[in-house]
Amino acid sequence: MPTVPILDTAFFRRWLELAADAVHRESPRLTELDSPIGDADHGSNMDRGFTAAALAVRTDPPGTPGELLVSVGRTLVSSVGGASGPLYGTALRRAGKALGDTHEVTPPELGEALAAAVNAVRELGGAEPGDKTMVDALLPASHAYTGVLTEGGSAQQALAAAADAALAGAEATVPLLARKGRASYLGERSIGHQDPGATSSALLLACLRDASARGASGTEGVSR
Ligand code: ADP
Ligand code: MG
Repeated sequence: MPTVPILDTAFFRRWLELAADAVHRESPRLTELDSPIGDADHGSNMDRGFTAAALAVRTDPPGTPGELLVSVGRTLVSSVGGASGPLYGTALRRAGKALGDTHEVTPPELGEALAAAVNAVRELGGAEPGDKTMVDALLPASHAYTGVLTEGGSAQQALAAAADAALAGAEATVPLLARKGRASYLGERSIGHQDPGATSSALLLACLRDASARGASGTEGVSR
């Protein structure tokens, strides 16, 4: 029987805890990716931001998924100095606002929140697909999620497809020429390196998939 994840506040809390762990674990790699085409701080930026966001949510637990995402976004904006802080922060705040004050998010609503997050990044940063930024992981992930739901798939299947699409999108940034952010200062020399922000986006989406695979309230998934 397929597992149906309940997309409640507990689900988003699981995502945040998984994300804080994953970002901490992968911090050296994210910084390494940010060395040849940036200023070698993406791992520490993300680690600082997500550690602070997880702490804020543990200290003052939000009552709804939307409130949680807005809280994470606000913490990222205030605690991360790099470009990624305002970009991810605005994306998460916008996703949280898209969810409104519902206590249980439906699969299509999660798709709308993902789309709102991607649009926020594009509006704030002005990046187009193919500019070698986090958009190259986030946009295909959002499309893959919606595509699977439209074909009758479950939220869990859609999140698995989104995570796969984000990873493929991040890997596909290697041959691209950077047109936004610090990496764009390098021009042709940005070619041949994977974008750090696209890589962290893939990581965050893998955590969303894993949060859904764990089922509700820290128990195994509810079969329906
Ligand atoms: P900074 O570049 O300020 O040091 P980070 O190293 O934390 O910040 O983040 C770099 C990542 O931010 C890049 O790899 C890229 O994915 C993303 N990024 C930078 N500028 C933009 C932009 N204008 N639009 C979308 N993403 C961007
Ligand atoms: Mg950097």
